[in-house]
Amino acid sequence: MAYKRTEKFDEEITSSLMKKYKESIALLGEDPEREGLQKTPERMAKAMQYLTQGYGIDARAILESAKFHEEVSEMIIVKDIELYSMCEHHMLPFYGKAHVAYIPNGYITGLSKIARVVDVYSRRLQVQERLTHQILSAIKESLNPLGVAVVIEASHLCMMMRGVSKQNSVTTTSAFFGEFEKNETRSEFMKLISAKLH
Ligand SMILES: [Zn+2]
Repeated sequence: MAYKRTEKFDEEITSSLMKKYKESIALLGEDPEREGLQKTPERMAKAMQYLTQGYGIDARAILESAKFHEEVSEMIIVKDIELYSMCEHHMLPFYGKAHVAYIPNGYITGLSKIARVVDVYSRRLQVQERLTHQILSAIKESLNPLGVAVVIEASHLCMMMRGVSKQNSVTTTSAFFGEFEKNETRSEFMKLISAKLH
């Protein structure tokens, strides 16, 4: 199954969002008619649609669009995948890095597809824990591998800019399946993602 990338914005959704964002700006005490803010509702409407475009995309289809038969059984790691998402509690960004590994069982996928899957689930309203598990499940179900591991390290603006103002805290989440549930394999993976190779 093919997937398509959407850079176009739905006109009806854009204009409804614009109205609501204009109201929100006024409710927050600003003048939405002043020069610098006139186009802000439209920019917000488009930015938010862009940042949530992951809802319309099937992550499994991405992985299956580049699924190749290959007899390798070594661990494949894609580390330091840039990640930008939005917390579903405050709709504020969280950002960081994802490290993903799998051990093939007859099938591999393109390395860039793994990064695309991270994007698809990041561009939704998320919690970091669910994001971690969704990436793992997509790989598990599409490639039927012997094992999958996902580690995400992220900083949450809702923690940094408001409330407790914990500027330097990084949240780490992980999910493991199959071979990675064994201590030995998991520690090899953890060692490889912590190693500074560059
Ligand atoms: Zn939050």
